[in-house]
Amino acid sequence: MNDRILLCLCHLSGREKDFIDQAFAENWVVPLGPNVNGFEKDLEDFFIHNKDIRIADGEKTEFEKKRIVALSSGTAAIHLGLIALGVGPGDEVMVQSFTFSASANPVTYLGATPVFVDSEPSTWDMDPDLLDKAIADRIEKTGKKPKAIIPVYLYGMPAKIKEIFEVARKWDIPVLEDAAEAFGSFYDGRPCGTFGEYGVLSFNGNKMITTSGGGALICPDETAAKLVTSYATQSREPFPWYQHERVGFNYRLSNICAGIGRGQMTIAGDHIAHHRHVQQLYRELLADVKGIELHDNPSPESDSNFWLCAITFAPELKIKGDDGCGRPEAMRRYLDSRNIESRHLWKPMHLQPFFANCPAYVNGVSEDLFSRGLCLPAGPYVGEPEVRRVVDAIKECIV
Ligand SMILES: *Cc1c(COP(=O)(O)O)cnc(C)c1O
Repeated sequence: MNDRILLCLCHLSGREKDFIDQAFAENWVVPLGPNVNGFEKDLEDFFIHNKDIRIADGEKTEFEKKRIVALSSGTAAIHLGLIALGVGPGDEVMVQSFTFSASANPVTYLGATPVFVDSEPSTWDMDPDLLDKAIADRIEKTGKKPKAIIPVYLYGMPAKIKEIFEVARKWDIPVLEDAAEAFGSFYDGRPCGTFGEYGVLSFNGNKMITTSGGGALICPDETAAKLVTSYATQSREPFPWYQHERVGFNYRLSNICAGIGRGQMTIAGDHIAHHRHVQQLYRELLADVKGIELHDNPSPESDSNFWLCAITFAPELKIKGDDGCGRPEAMRRYLDSRNIESRHLWKPMHLQPFFANCPAYVNGVSEDLFSRGLCLPAGPYVGEPEVRRVVDAIKECIV
């Protein structure tokens, strides 16, 4: 049997251990220290102080004020971002329905309600027109404006950012970007995660880069970053004793995990290039497979990191072993029998039992994609032989 091809394994540069060893040698085995500071600086160099970023002259000053705070997870980053935006009990937050549950869960931690908005078919991300209608309807129904908008960049694909921000500006509602899957994705020459008031990154084990577990919040300026850091470290006030004037959390990234992050940042560029290369291989090898469509950049502004490769099936396509389980599940089982890991697309939040009572504005797009799509492996250990194996297996299971 061939080796198992996994969806997205992490890939270490070899430098990680140096940073960790240093933390041990200097006794910085705590959730602060030189690796945390160093990792934040590396992230800021990548996302903000980077000559390759295209930014209009008029926006430069504001853009360069941004700061990044390293946290224990992407979920923690969403939680603190919402707190920084003043979300509290009884509030509503507009959340993309087609996503991983971590985009919506922190809204409920705050006693607020996620209001789900469906996707549009070209990016698979939040539909700006539907968002606009949904906001108008929420205001009419509740008499209150939603407190924030959370668009998500699924599998690294940038949303219709320009249109979403036009809607956000029209209603004067801040945007918290969930860029957890979009490390290294760009839209119109600017990194995803740097458009909104706040931007969320994740460094969980299978994301574009890893700290084993971790995340970060891109903040608008130093003042906001200081507030977020304070919340993340139990909101200790500067007194000789332990003084607290706000609720606090234990959400700071550990200095050990940040050491892994610093090692990862030495190869982040190669890593992203590899995912784009894998997508190109799939593009070539799937080009003549009838009935399989690759989810690809839909516009010239869009430059996905292609964290995972996602495909959809044409209506007439039939898959072996579809005994009523549905085509994605039939293909997933077949690939699994060929020792290849694949994954269903995210099941939309408005279909999840936990969120059944939340308001939802749907147009059928995410349900349709969920019923006929699949994610294929695209990690660092996937090269041309592996992509060939995956594509061959896909061909075998098409009837
Ligand atoms: C992974 C992920 C998160 C959460 O990140 P963690 O670091 O795992 O907490 C949030 N949103 C999306 C879309 C994700 O894929």
